[in-house]
This record gives sequence, C-alpha cells and structure tokens, in this order.
Amino acid sequence: MASVIAVENLEDRLREFWPGAVRWRVQMAEFTTLKVGGPAQALVLPVDMAEVVLLVNGCQSAKIPWCVVGGGSNLLVADEGVPGVVIVLGRDFADIRMSGKDRCGRTLVEVEAGCRLARLLNWCQDKGLAGLEFAVGIPGTVGGAVVMNAGAWGGEIKDVLSSLTWLASGSVTSRVRAELDFGYRCWQRPADAVVLSATFAFTTEDSAKIGAVCRQHVAARRSKQPVAHGVAGSFFKNTEAVAAGKLIEDAGLKGTRIGGAEVSAVHANFIVNTGAATTEDIIKVMELVRKRVWAVHRVWLEPEVHFIGVDGNRVVGKR
Ligand SMILES: Cc1cc2nc3c(=O)[nH]c(=O)nc-3n(C[C@H](O)[C@H](O)[C@H](O)COP(=O)(O)OP(=O)(O)OC[C@H]3O[C@@H](n4cnc5c(N)ncnc54)[C@H](O)[C@@H]3O)c2cc1C
Repeated sequence: MASVIAVENLEDRLREFWPGAVRWRVQMAEFTTLKVGGPAQALVLPVDMAEVVLLVNGCQSAKIPWCVVGGGSNLLVADEGVPGVVIVLGRDFADIRMSGKDRCGRTLVEVEAGCRLARLLNWCQDKGLAGLEFAVGIPGTVGGAVVMNAGAWGGEIKDVLSSLTWLASGSVTSRVRAELDFGYRCWQRPADAVVLSATFAFTTEDSAKIGAVCRQHVAARRSKQPVAHGVAGSFFKNTEAVAAGKLIEDAGLKGTRIGGAEVSAVHANFIVNTGAATTEDIIKVMELVRKRVWAVHRVWLEPEVHFIGVDGNRVVGKR
C-alpha cells in the first residue's frame, strides 16, 4: 500500500502556533464508521472555539494542509492516509445551552459543533423540546449534520436551524437561517468553512410523545438498514425521480462484493465493510455500481459520502 506524502517538518511548523496535544500517525479507520482509512499525519482534538480558530488560522497561514472531521459517519478516507493536520471536532467541543426564545415562542438551543446528534436528541427529550426526532439514528455530530443538511422521514437539519456560526477565511461569521442556502444533503458554504456552533429552534412537547416518535423511527430504521462491521449510511444521493437504492437493486447489484466491500443485500444503497475492507475495495465497488447503473438506467449516481484523499471521480464510466 502506498504511504501518504507527508508534509515536511510538520511538527516544528505546527508547534509555532499550536501548543496543545497532537496525536501522530493515527489510523483514520478509528475515526470513521466505515472503519477504513490510513494514518493522519497529525490529528488534533480542539476543546473550544478559540482552539479551533487558532488551529485553522494557523494551518492556513503556514500553508499546512488541514481538514475537519466530525463523527466520520459520512466519510471515506484514503488507505494512504492524510497529509497535514486532521482536526476532529468531538465530545470536548460539545456544549449545549438554552439561549432564549424566538419570535414564535420556540426555545433556542445553541450547540457546539462536536456535539453528537444522539446526545442532543436525548437532551431535548429530557427537556421536552421537539423538532429533532427525524434525526434519531443518524450518527455523527451537529457540525457534520449541518454541512450535510442531514435528514430523514421528511425532516432536514435546515428545518430546525435558527442560526449558524462558522469560521471561514480567518473570520468568525454568524447568520440566521434565512440567510443560509441549503440543498439536498448540502449546505452551500464557503470552501474552507468550519461550523463552530448551531442554534436550533425547538417547540415544547411532552417527553413521552417525543420518545414514542423516536422509537418508531428507530424501529423503521432497524428493519431497513444493514448491520455490518462498517457503514456510512446511504452511499449515493437519490435522484429526483428514483431512490439510488432502487436503481442499484434493479441493476442486479445487491450482494456484489470486491475484497471486503459489499453492496448490502439488505439495502442496496449501503456499501458495507464486511470486516476487512480497504478503502480501495470500497472505491472499486463504488466504481462498479456507478458504471453498471449507468449502463442499465443511464443515470450517473453522485456519491453522498464525502472523500478525504480519494478522487471520487477517478472513474469516467459514462460509456
Ligand atoms: C448507520 C448510518 C445511518 C445514516 N443515516 C443517515 C440518514 O438517515 N440521513 C442522513 O442525512 N445521513 C445519514 N447518515 C450519514 C451521516 O451520519 C450524516 O451525513 C451525518 O450528518 C454526518 O455527520 P458527521 O459528524 O459524521 O460528519 P463527517 O462524516 O465527519 O463529515 C462529513 C462532512 O462534513 C464535514 N464536516 C464535519 N464536521 C464539520 C464542521 N464542524 N465544519 C465543517 N465541516 C465539517 C467533513 O469535512 C465532511 O466533508 C448515516 C450514516 C450511518 C453510518
């Protein structure tokens, strides 16, 4: 397996602006739900907004490559690893606090980007605050959910978002929801935007009712989604007309396997790591699916999964 082209003198260059802890050559498989991905040259877990700003601005000024990871539940990372600094926003950057009411009387809740959606949901249920139930079972962080405009059961993050704070081009910016542009599984953001916190507007509801809705969603998920060593949710975006899973299933691809990667026999839009898959195995399955679906349906599927160090378009399969 080829190894990553490391950034020279990274330790010395990073130490010029970053006094905190650094983990060196950590396997990214530990930080992704697909459980694949080679070593991050350096990995840092900032604990507050000031640290995120220091780190990102420092990397940008020093021209050190960097990227941000949340829960890693929508990510495919190269086997060769990632040069530069991987910034993981996780449980140390995850405060939740009430921040008043909006004009409609909804409760505003400000949440730091590293907070897990599951933890926020539990907190909401505890406080009798409704709106996020659609997201039960979606792994990952608030920051990742905003970037992905994560959604299920007809709900999306944008529907409960009141305002957002992010870092881009060296400055921290806050905007209300009406000033933000969301699409299907995306926030149209500045290329280097790092979500710092999101404020949500929730309605008041009986905790038991919130719990009942969540249980229904969880049961429906369990009946439809595969249980595997590694998954990343839906691999491809649905088309406007047809679900990607239906196109893949109708192309006869369920159960197709390369190395340790497989098109799930339960849900065709899941590419699963059956235990010992490499990123390369998953890419090969992805390429095969795109080519076959094109050949059968004349539809070129776009991945929903994001890539780090992987050329998601290396296959030119429309032929
Ligand atoms: C079992 C399973 C079920 C799933 N079901 C659903 C579902 O029903 N609906 C759905 O929409 N998705 C689903 N997903 C996909 C995934 O959970 C969501 O996309 C989730 O919102 C990703 O969040 P994350 O923190 O894991 O992001 P990551 O995977 O860590 O990152 C995703 C992208 O966001 C960027 N990013 C992460 N945090 C930040 C930040 N703070 N600032 C800037 N960029 C950031 C990353 O660089 C990357 O480009 C599922 C995944 C799994 C494994």
